[in-house]
Amino acid sequence: MPTNTSTRLNGQFALVTGASSGIGAAVAVALAAHGAAVVVNYSHDEDGANATVKTIADAGGQAYATQADVSQEAEVQKMFKQAIERWGTLHIVVANAGIQVDAPFLDMTLEQWQKVIDVNLTGQFLTLREAAREFVRRGPQPDLSRALGKLICMSSVHEVIPWAGHVNYASSKGGIMQLMKSTAQELAPHKIRVNSIAPGAIATPINLSARDTPEEEKALLTLIPYNRVGDPADIGNLAAWLASDEADYITGQTIFMDGGMTLYPGFADNG
Ligand code: NAD
Repeated sequence: MPTNTSTRLNGQFALVTGASSGIGAAVAVALAAHGAAVVVNYSHDEDGANATVKTIADAGGQAYATQADVSQEAEVQKMFKQAIERWGTLHIVVANAGIQVDAPFLDMTLEQWQKVIDVNLTGQFLTLREAAREFVRRGPQPDLSRALGKLICMSSVHEVIPWAGHVNYASSKGGIMQLMKSTAQELAPHKIRVNSIAPGAIATPINLSARDTPEEEKALLTLIPYNRVGDPADIGNLAAWLASDEADYITGQTIFMDGGMTLYPGFADNG
């Protein structure tokens, strides 16, 4: 649950992909806690998406769940069309959906490579493009926000930290860095802000196997100078702020939220 609430996103409509669990669910809940109505996208986990909607509704917010595979152009376009028909427009879109399909490089199949690129990178392209088209179609609403629209990509520390055994995932996140920056450069004249959040280790289903024994958790903490695994709400709170006018002059940036994982902790004792 978000640790604070405000009215900073009142009257705005948001869409979060992959919001049936983990970080996406926390982002959806946080956006709603700050006043946005939220479209909760999911691919397979309808129960998870309904739970996110219920959390929002129980707190007095507005949300509905919608199924779409973000790697499929027609499904993404249908999801946006339905949202716009229902709510008139969107102001905040968070491209969060992502997967890991891990394999040693020597054994990685084209299918394992392609699946991760399709969901993590092509999925973000399709989501950002449909969102930007809608922002431009709708035009400015300065009473709601200084920006025409706000796009947030869920990246990872692995947009800069190489990750053996996860070449497909790290490549997708490196690609998101340039997708975000190039899109931000192109869309800034339209007053559309595009930024990324790059989480470190956040406690969600995606990395359960890296935390399921005390030894594994201890090994993970050696990578985190701040000495705790992140909470999905940490990311949710940042997303709500980044989508608000308080962050109006930020575009084209990756904000690392990682407890210091990108500080090269292996060098803390002279390397
Ligand atoms: P998660 O597995 O809990 O959530 C992933 C979400 O994406 C789920 O809701 C899933 O249903 C959805 N999804 C998967 N494929 C989809 C598709 N084709 N179409 C639509 N939705 C789809 O994991 P998470 O940790 O919450 O991951 C969310 C994002 O955060 C991912 O992009 C991930 O790479 C990123 N991330 C997570 C961590 C971490 O430590 N948890 C760190 C860095 C980045």
